[in-house]
Amino acid sequence: MSTVLARDALPRLRPLEGLDFRNTFVDALPADALLVNRPRLVANAAYTRVEPTPVASARLLAWSDRLGEFLGIDRPPASGPAAEVLAGNRLLPSMKPYAARYGGHQFGVWAGQLGDGRAITLGEIVATDGSRQELQLKGAGKTPYSRTADGRAVLRSSLREFACSEAMFHLGVPTTRALSLVATGEPVIRDMFYDGNPAPEPGAVVCRVAPSFLRFGNFQIFAAQRETEGLKRLVEYVMREFYLALPSVEAFFEEVCRRTALLLVDWMRFGFVHGVMNTDNMSVLGQTIDYGPYGWLEGYDPGWTPNTTDAQSLRYTYGNQPGIAQWNLARFGEALLPLVPDPAPLEASLKLYAELFNEGWQKALAAKLGLRSLDEPGDEELMNDLFVALQQEETDFTLFFRKLADVSLERPDLKPLEAAFYGEQEPSRREVLLAWIRRYAERAKRENDPLRRERMNAANPKYVFRNYLAQTAIDALAQDDASVLERLMRVLERPFDEQPEHEDLAARRPEWARHKAGCSALSCSS
Ligand code: AMP
Ligand code: MG
Repeated sequence: MSTVLARDALPRLRPLEGLDFRNTFVDALPADALLVNRPRLVANAAYTRVEPTPVASARLLAWSDRLGEFLGIDRPPASGPAAEVLAGNRLLPSMKPYAARYGGHQFGVWAGQLGDGRAITLGEIVATDGSRQELQLKGAGKTPYSRTADGRAVLRSSLREFACSEAMFHLGVPTTRALSLVATGEPVIRDMFYDGNPAPEPGAVVCRVAPSFLRFGNFQIFAAQRETEGLKRLVEYVMREFYLALPSVEAFFEEVCRRTALLLVDWMRFGFVHGVMNTDNMSVLGQTIDYGPYGWLEGYDPGWTPNTTDAQSLRYTYGNQPGIAQWNLARFGEALLPLVPDPAPLEASLKLYAELFNEGWQKALAAKLGLRSLDEPGDEELMNDLFVALQQEETDFTLFFRKLADVSLERPDLKPLEAAFYGEQEPSRREVLLAWIRRYAERAKRENDPLRRERMNAANPKYVFRNYLAQTAIDALAQDDASVLERLMRVLERPFDEQPEHEDLAARRPEWARHKAGCSALSCSS
């Protein structure tokens, strides 16, 4: 018998325009003394108070029901006061909007001041679980940190950030989230291919949500400018708000290292490639932040990056990510040096990062294979041989592990895995994979686990937000059809469930999408 909740038993949702905002960030931290909203270097401040620039016409294109429920906010109509707030056209009396000041290492080089060049935080609200959450508009107009850019965002990249944040959350990976996607009714000029052909595209604003958007770079800019008092206040603030139980700056750094290790294990286990792991895109809460030219591994290739801007340097490839995160943590640790008497504990935390990552990755791999551990003699070789074979055969990372659960341990063959292969039939190479599957079956048989399939399906998602799927949603929305995006978002709420009626959304990237813009690789243009 099914139970129907009485309407009154449902948690009550408030209209967005009735929210009450707190502003601990603004109230606790040093403000920019100038209120001039034009690109400039800012000194001795954690942020600048700045208001969103209104847009021509605000129209709500998409809304995350799950996040709305968590925040206790009602889904608003396409136009009206809430859509105006979400576009930056209207402020509520309790908001103290600001753009944060940060710096960062971009592609390995210190880039100086960056900051929220197009993101404006409206303030903080209390979610249904009592946690505090910031609401931030991305694409809300120029700030002192916009440098030479326009402060805006295009629809395609906004949709990608909106939907992937939510998909990531439902995979169980720490991430900033996204509440809404709003069309601005204004064109934004972008040179999408960086080939000297700028063209107008529809503009959009995403409302992002996170306990805090603080990045390594917010700390780095204070350290780089030798503004030790500001640095100290920022560390005290983030510890008071988010790391209350920790006794020292050293312990805070260690916790960020721990969280980052777990985050990287998650990215790697699901084949996520962030694409721009600059230190200004690394959250001090260990969340995935700043969805740009990201991608999900299709054919397994540790040297793959979806970011065409990185195609030469190959710095942010799938396989480099764990090492890059450690490099970024080292830069973050350096920024904290003025506050610690001895660097040794920070160095120890960097080592701990590597240990935790390796430990977590071994566990994740074991779970992906349906094994209890990878500690038996021969296991390491088994893993290494698998990754060589997957790459040789151009095998879809997500589908391979998902379908591996269907391989019979008694009569192992490649049939269940056919959907994962991109290339033409290459019998000799398939032999390599078949030999591996037979070894795997022997190994898995010894575990004698009647729940192998269930356990594997809980570790290996069937649905990930592949770039070609994102592109189908973008193309449809450009024609005013939100149904493709809505269906995707619904399916991605349950990425580990079979959902056979949505089988098409689990398919490997079709060949037409291999070289089509946005469907596999992307530029940073957004
Ligand atoms: P990202 O590569 O998106 O992490 O951005 C790097 C820096 O460039 C950040 O400081 C952003 O705020 C800034 N930025 C990126 N796009 C724009 C834009 N359209 N307008 C202003 N600032 C931008
Ligand atoms: Mg960024």
